[in-house]
Amino acid sequence: MIAKNSNSNRSQTVEFASNVSSNSALNSAADVVIVGAGLIGLAIALELHDRGASVTVIDHGRSLTKASTAAAGMLAAEDPFNPPALAPLSKLSALRYPAFLRRIEALSGVAVPFQTDTTVQYMADGTTTRLAEHSIDPRQLTAALLAAVRATPIRLLEETQIVAVDDTPHGMQVRLSTGIAIASRAVVYAAGAWTSEVMTAFHSNPVPVAPRKGQMLRVRLPATLALNEVHRSERIYIVPRTLGPQAGTALIGATVENAGFDTTVRSGDLDSLRALAAELLPAFSSAAEAPLVESWAGLRPATPDGLPVLGASARAGQFIASGHYRNGILQAPATAVVLADIIEGKPLSLDIFALSPQRFARN
Ligand SMILES: Cc1cc2nc3c(=O)[nH]c(=O)nc-3n(C[C@H](O)[C@H](O)[C@H](O)COP(=O)(O)OP(=O)(O)OC[C@H]3O[C@@H](n4cnc5c(N)ncnc54)[C@H](O)[C@@H]3O)c2cc1C
Repeated sequence: MIAKNSNSNRSQTVEFASNVSSNSALNSAADVVIVGAGLIGLAIALELHDRGASVTVIDHGRSLTKASTAAAGMLAAEDPFNPPALAPLSKLSALRYPAFLRRIEALSGVAVPFQTDTTVQYMADGTTTRLAEHSIDPRQLTAALLAAVRATPIRLLEETQIVAVDDTPHGMQVRLSTGIAIASRAVVYAAGAWTSEVMTAFHSNPVPVAPRKGQMLRVRLPATLALNEVHRSERIYIVPRTLGPQAGTALIGATVENAGFDTTVRSGDLDSLRALAAELLPAFSSAAEAPLVESWAGLRPATPDGLPVLGASARAGQFIASGHYRNGILQAPATAVVLADIIEGKPLSLDIFALSPQRFARN
């Protein structure tokens, strides 16, 4: 079914005509400027590049060092505890994943394998069901994606602050702390848990995206356990790594906390995660049998209704791709395609009305 693109109108759509990426040391041009070099921002950048756009991505820190490298990497399109409104984007993304990985490999020369092909889902009534779902190592994925982006003319400006986003007669001008000004036809906010913060500075209608902390640990697999499936209940998951540098270990996660931008890891919380994991697979209860390899915390970008924000903002030429909460690794490929379609004013292949930025204005 072809859904009508409710975002499409002349003032919001962009034709990629610019092949000018730089015309002086202090002034440059790009069809699209993307704010945030996480998985979402860089997946969109690659998709737009493949459609002929000139793209600049700006990050105030280093690329791919925030939520996208903190994730477990489940591609949990079949999770029965996900909100039903997530399903269209999640299922499209799961379908697109193999092509997304092939494109990254073609550019980077790096093949990113699926780590698992099935998930044992523990239901509230004590039964289990086996789901056909993959998982991936986000660190492998992001390293390959960064190499892929660097193999293209996409301009990646790291450790760079935006100081202003001004309207001009031809689009926008994005002014940077480095003194550079970029003339652009479109700006995409994809700053993860920081999206509200950055939009508040440059946009009169910021969307409500807040950090939701997740602590996680990685342990060595107990010698008695040859694990090659994800095990997941509503409260806990165990994600084995079967290939690559982390093979022979498993991730146990994750806490869900409203703690602002705090990323402290607490040993008591790690003990609680391990105890929950042991309810699914008892061998994980023992730190001697499954010793700790590492632990960390990341900040999921969360909206009040738990759904991503995807579409045109109220300000002409500005777009949002954020709030992917617990499913941003899964949803990156479809997000990139859908947002690129919205920017180009093309008909959409799925109904994303529930994900519209305007839903927050409607309430
Ligand atoms: C513990 C944990 C486990 C998870 N497990 C899974 C999972 O199994 N499966 C799954 O699909 N998802 C999972 N997720 C969710 C997933 O990681 C996120 O939804 C996804 O990474 C969000 O990507 P992003 O690009 O929006 O955000 P990020 O990766 O956080 O990137 C945002 C970028 O914006 C930049 N930025 C911020 N402010 C500015 C500014 N002012 N100017 C310029 N740049 C800025 C940041 O520096 C950062 O690089 C997990 C998350 C966590 C924390």
